[in-house]
Amino acid sequence: MSTIWSRTSGRRSGGCKLDNGTAMMHAGLCSMNRIYLDHAATTPILPEVCKAMMPHLSDEYGNPSSLHAQGRRARETVEVARDIISVFIEANPGEIIFTGGGSESNNLAIKGTAFSLRGRGNHIITTAVEHHSVIESCRFLESLGFDVTYIGVDSAGMVDPDEVGRAITRKTILVSVIHGNNEIGTIQPVAEIARIARGYGVPVHTDAVQTFGHIPLSVDDLGIDLLSATAHKLYGPKGTGLLYIRSGTAIEPLIHGGGQETHFRAGTHNVAGITGFGRAVEMASGMMDEESERIARLRDSLIERILCNVGGVINGHEHRGLPGIISLTIPGIDADALVIALDRMGIACSSGAACMSSNFEPSHVLTAIGRSREEAKSTIRLSLGRDTNHGEIERASDALVAIVPKLRKFAP
Ligand SMILES: *Cc1c(COP(=O)(O)O)cnc(C)c1O
Repeated sequence: MSTIWSRTSGRRSGGCKLDNGTAMMHAGLCSMNRIYLDHAATTPILPEVCKAMMPHLSDEYGNPSSLHAQGRRARETVEVARDIISVFIEANPGEIIFTGGGSESNNLAIKGTAFSLRGRGNHIITTAVEHHSVIESCRFLESLGFDVTYIGVDSAGMVDPDEVGRAITRKTILVSVIHGNNEIGTIQPVAEIARIARGYGVPVHTDAVQTFGHIPLSVDDLGIDLLSATAHKLYGPKGTGLLYIRSGTAIEPLIHGGGQETHFRAGTHNVAGITGFGRAVEMASGMMDEESERIARLRDSLIERILCNVGGVINGHEHRGLPGIISLTIPGIDADALVIALDRMGIACSSGAACMSSNFEPSHVLTAIGRSREEAKSTIRLSLGRDTNHGEIERASDALVAIVPKLRKFAP
């Protein structure tokens, strides 16, 4: 793994610069542009992506399954997107199935495998730090009589590949491991896990929603059989995702109907969404390396400012983390109160994952890495992206410096 995802700040003892921009910032912030630090929840749509989609929301309305000229043109755009994406992850175009997003792809990978291989066994292995769409698919399968093993993680959020190996039995039909974690950013040793599992003939799925388009990714280097991604986490539209299905992998469709997507997923294609997805991947492949380095530097700069001037603990792995994600625990602070206070100051971030912010339960990922319920409820996520710049990092850290002591004062 390249070192660009290693955090360069956070463990240093000296070198903190005193922060004196707070008062100035306080006066001016409200009139300035808002700062978006919630890219792990969703990303802005690139203008290039929007432009590529527009014709398919107006004149180019053909159904890709139709034989006539409009239909053939629509089919052509879908296949162009499929080609771009397959090159990007070093797959064959026929191995890419378009879906309605990352949650659907995860459901199809897990339930589709379970339904297809239930004659062979009923055991599934996953981890304690998966996205809800993986966990809830597994819980549903448990209600149907499947056995699911949830492998724990260390304090940095890492799965031990050998522990996955030890959990495999004759009845194991699938291993599903998240690639990059959406809450704490930890990147799992998926290639190593896949090598072990496939040694036993067990297919491997990875939820690569947070890594796809952000760090280099090849289905053969990872050695996986199934991979989920979604367009809206890489500056594309919401509601369009994909499942990579390695040729020969057994999967039962979840949506029956027409024969679209080689019978793996019925339904008329979301032509605009798929076109936007292809364009977003094209844009990512041209700038991914540079951008992940730039974003990792901004992340490190923000971490350093926070640790020097605000305090708290950074969650996740120091060397194997997504470039854009900061998970910050500030003991004694209510994360929701902090998110709301920051929002008032023009800064968007989140407490926990987007889909559970209204949920009373503390994050399962934070408790899996050993944080207490209290600490989990004192944790915010700041996620940086392509539109993040240095000035925003300064303003965000200034805002935290201004607001955290106030919230501490009111803490019960
Ligand atoms: C966002 C996300 C998903 C869900 O993708 P949707 O397209 O929003 O359904 C799945 N897994 C991870 C890790 C995510 O961050």
